[in-house]
Amino acid sequence: MNKIGIDLGGTKIEGILTDENFQSLTRKRIPTNQEDGYESILNSIKNLILQLSEESTEKFSIGICTPGALSLDSGLIKNSNTQCLIGKDLKNDLKNLLNQDLSIENDANCFALAEAKLGAGKDQNLVFGVIMGTGVGGGIIIDEKIHRGRTNIAGEWGHHCLHLDGNNCYCGNKGCVETYISGPALEKKWSTLTTLEQSLPQIIQSTQNPNFTNWKKSFLDDFGLSLANVIDILDPDVIVLGGGVSNIDFLYDEGKNSVYEKVFSDVVDTPIVKNELGDSAGVFGACML
Ligand SMILES: [Zn+2]
Repeated sequence: MNKIGIDLGGTKIEGILTDENFQSLTRKRIPTNQEDGYESILNSIKNLILQLSEESTEKFSIGICTPGALSLDSGLIKNSNTQCLIGKDLKNDLKNLLNQDLSIENDANCFALAEAKLGAGKDQNLVFGVIMGTGVGGGIIIDEKIHRGRTNIAGEWGHHCLHLDGNNCYCGNKGCVETYISGPALEKKWSTLTTLEQSLPQIIQSTQNPNFTNWKKSFLDDFGLSLANVIDILDPDVIVLGGGVSNIDFLYDEGKNSVYEKVFSDVVDTPIVKNELGDSAGVFGACML
């Protein structure tokens, strides 16, 4: 059976049709147009799926990768940064529109699943996949399957507490990982230190700025502690980093050392590696649901 995977992002919706071995047959991308509202997004997804299905010579499954999580109680979308999805029954609404069953999963789990099956976590039993971008999330893959946990929150690494009474988080708690090492959080910290409004790639180039050492040290400390906690509890075979922040080279040497220093063990050799699928992890992960 062929597979259609849809990656529903804040600015674009990407779709892919693959064969049963996840070899790409065709691929399309359209803008999300969030401002036109939920109904418009539903119709965009439907049209994209219809276009992809025209290229399929056999039956196909449908998987959707979306930011945010599905509430276990209601099945509704929660915690999504594509705001108009919050509180909506995306799965059933699409199912009714398409007259076909489908699977839906959050983007960090899709990322981790795709990297575990096809990317940097291939042939490993326990893969912890991390997205460090606008938000911070994580996914746990055991034997090529998503580990969701009792209430569907397993791997929600971005909202464990790094600093008691720390930064305020939109989730209502304080000190969450996301408020320290997401792209916007790192830019905000830089702006507080320097009064400069610069993007992360610009900040990384600012090694001559006297504040750079401070900024980098607290980033490495937070990165190190947040992943050391994961290793202490999960002891994964590999940690795969994704999202815009994962393009920072020093995470893979100095960052890794900072993690190792904080792990509760005399032997630490967990590989911490960059993703291999890049932006494509979402659509491939969706195909695999
Ligand atoms: Zn939080």
